[in-house]
Amino acid sequence: MYEHHSALGVATALKPAAPVTLIRPQAAARAARFFVEKFPGRSLYAVKANPSPDLLRILWQEGVTHYDVASIVEVRLVAETLPYAKLCFMHPVKAEEAIAEAYHVHGVRTFSLDTMDELEKIMRATGDATDLELCVRIRVSSDLAKLSLAAKFGAEPDEVRELLMATRQAADALGICFHVGSQAMSPHAYTQAIERVRAAIVEAAVTVDIIDVGGGFPSIYPDMEPPALELYFDAIHRGFESLPVSYSSELWCEPGRALCAEYSSLIVRVERRRGDELYINDGAYGALFDAAHVGWRFPVELLRAEVSTAENHAFSFYGPTCDDMDHMVGPFMLPADVKAGDYIEIGMLGAYGCAMRTGFNGFSSETLVAVDNEPMASMYDDGVEEPRRVAEKRGNVVKLGQ
Ligand SMILES: *Cc1c(COP(=O)(O)O)cnc(C)c1O
Repeated sequence: MYEHHSALGVATALKPAAPVTLIRPQAAARAARFFVEKFPGRSLYAVKANPSPDLLRILWQEGVTHYDVASIVEVRLVAETLPYAKLCFMHPVKAEEAIAEAYHVHGVRTFSLDTMDELEKIMRATGDATDLELCVRIRVSSDLAKLSLAAKFGAEPDEVRELLMATRQAADALGICFHVGSQAMSPHAYTQAIERVRAAIVEAAVTVDIIDVGGGFPSIYPDMEPPALELYFDAIHRGFESLPVSYSSELWCEPGRALCAEYSSLIVRVERRRGDELYINDGAYGALFDAAHVGWRFPVELLRAEVSTAENHAFSFYGPTCDDMDHMVGPFMLPADVKAGDYIEIGMLGAYGCAMRTGFNGFSSETLVAVDNEPMASMYDDGVEEPRRVAEKRGNVVKLGQ
């Protein structure tokens, strides 16, 4: 099935003039199995992180049956790709037409909300349905996460009581959900948020059927090495067990990043070097939005058949479009002798990388190649390995570390 083992093999064989997206189905499957087997509840895949139908099918095959969708386009996509999947429409601000289509056409029964207006909208759009699972999104801190999701959504403590009581009246099953922010660097983020859930349940004195701890489960990036996912699962399990909810209540989570970060990487070519700045052929409007706009550092490897003996050096990247904003500050560590014509693999782009591509300025690339070597880093590898050993195992002959 795989024509190539590694990025180096692809770059050598194809000499691609446009960026190439590498996919690693085995890495996504491993992440899915991990959540399905080890999360002490149900894992919903947050489709926005990467809506690739190939990826959706891999997750489904590994036992991910529930999907967190946020737009009617995502609803249609998953309904078409996985006809038996259960869809949960977890955007707290939806178009009324989207709710109606989701409910009446696609069989969606689970919706989130964070205002009375949204509750009324859902009831109107579904014709006062009596079979709804409604999850009230509460606001929690994003302090322990790298990307905040705290400002936009979530009912405030002083609104939660009334909203929970009204939603309890309308819903067949009542849930409480939150999102601690993306790339949460400590399990404590969930412990704190679950304390907010406890306060809300106690104050409203309602029976709660679903606790949904949202996404935020981390992946690995340069200078962002989170604790093991098991520690997150343990903290969540302990918190959930201590909540005043019935024995039959369910625990859900909505991982996006953690399920797909390792699924993709990218091969780019250096078109020009100006000192410490490399002009590469993908960027802010391509798969590197986060690298440009929030200074996210992705791991990089120089793809050369012959090992560079040069010391590692810090580089920044310019993308291919004609504006200054197409700039990724990094620093990206590469051998000091990198030059125009070299290929570079940029790793960990399966989440919020490939999904964010535009065709701005005529730069886009559809080329996908499956490889079967390891991703540049993994949350699902047993034990920590030395970077060099990983590099050798991956089949890219590169100089790493120091
Ligand atoms: C984005 C999002 C997720 C996924 O978050 P990750 O940090 O990628 O795990 C889950 N739930 C909701 C409601 C989201 O908006």
